[in-house]
Amino acid sequence: MINGQMVDNPKLIKRGMLDNVLEQFNTAADQIKLNPNIRKILSITNTEIIINFPVRMDNGDVEIFTGYRVQHNNALGPYKGGLRYHPTVDIDAARALAMWMTWKTSLAGLPYGGAKGGIQIDPAKYSKAELERITRRFTFALGENIGPEHDIPAPDVNTNDQTMAWIADTYMSTKSTSERSKNQHVVTGKPVGSGGLEGRDRATGYGVFLTIKFWTEKKGSSLKNKKFIVQGFGNVGYWAAHFLEKEGAKMVGVQDAFGSIQNENGIRVEDLLNYNKANNGSIVNFPEANALGSADFFGIDCDIFIPAALGNQITKDNANLIKASLIAEGANGPTDVEGEKILLSRGVAIIPDIMCNSGGVIGSYFEWLQNRNGELWHLDDILTKLEKTLGSTFRKVTDYSEENRVDMRTAAFSIAIERIEKAYTLRGIFP
Ligand code: NAD
Repeated sequence: MINGQMVDNPKLIKRGMLDNVLEQFNTAADQIKLNPNIRKILSITNTEIIINFPVRMDNGDVEIFTGYRVQHNNALGPYKGGLRYHPTVDIDAARALAMWMTWKTSLAGLPYGGAKGGIQIDPAKYSKAELERITRRFTFALGENIGPEHDIPAPDVNTNDQTMAWIADTYMSTKSTSERSKNQHVVTGKPVGSGGLEGRDRATGYGVFLTIKFWTEKKGSSLKNKKFIVQGFGNVGYWAAHFLEKEGAKMVGVQDAFGSIQNENGIRVEDLLNYNKANNGSIVNFPEANALGSADFFGIDCDIFIPAALGNQITKDNANLIKASLIAEGANGPTDVEGEKILLSRGVAIIPDIMCNSGGVIGSYFEWLQNRNGELWHLDDILTKLEKTLGSTFRKVTDYSEENRVDMRTAAFSIAIERIEKAYTLRGIFP
């Protein structure tokens, strides 16, 4: 159960994500008085690909899978965005997530547009060999709909560097011998040693941590002894918690797909990671914490709440339970429009997803440049560059928010959309 809803009913969990992103877009479009023609263009997606493809299972049977890739907008550069393997993946989820990517890449000042996709699947039900065949066959079916200068996928929920390595290898294998190595940057988030960037694994969580740190410092405080809770203990949730703990903050609650745990004296991040690995990716029954109900998780006494799982988790049903004074959106679209209104009216600050978790796509951009230019970048330089880029975005967003008296999400969206509007204004509409 999550938020009183059955987790195995995906329709309940992701309801309204597309409505939310469109409402967020329209609020910012009103704020900047967006040209009505450009509003029309940005309200819909450019391309939507739905592919049904067969894969042979370990027992010899053939199963049919459905994969999606939605390309929202490429006015600023090639489409960019993750691939998610989850039962909630469908065309509306992919549309919403693709739109968020367009605003995210624009806000970060990257030469990219926005896309998202994935496969409607519960990967826990398949063997590694089956997941490899599913990934390779999906990549083959996508064909030239992805490409290093056209649309560049990356990891998202339930996909990782291994998934990206399979995609890169499959895509490159379809090219002639002399062209193969030029196509390594068809995906980012690859393993280090196979074209991947040092530190790409932690880039999103590090960025989440940095935006929290910037916010705390702006308020004249520090992270020392601050209490935080995390929803989702995967790539983003773990790394954000890792860096927060290093800075003196204390993790007092965690929720994942299987349950919730709490310890007001603190849960040691690395201990939970080791337990999670040994326990098939679940935090349930961690010995140094108490179990609690999923609704109670939202009411844990803390300063900072990091939603780092799925969309639409903070809603009108639980927004009033939240004790934190800061929400840092590691996930994409974790707060729905109604939930956000309640939080803002209570004076809770929200660092919006398109800024908070943008460390991932900024890291992806570094990886893409590294591959494209035949370079090898080093971890220290990468983290320094990431901090510089995020710091500059953070200042832009908080300045805009204060000058225009709007919340941080409207500020971030406004900056992002203005950049795309400018590109359209300069180049015009063909023919
Ligand atoms: P992941 O697959 O590594 O981890 C997901 C975690 O969420 C797991 O701990 C899982 O148990 C938990 N979870 C799943 N369903 C849940 C539910 N119903 N309730 C509570 N917890 C649940 O995924 P990730 O890469 O860490 O991505 C997490 C979020 O961050 C997603 O919204 C994703 O779009 C966003 N994001 C990821 C990246 C990235 O680089 N990986 C970048 C930007 C944004």
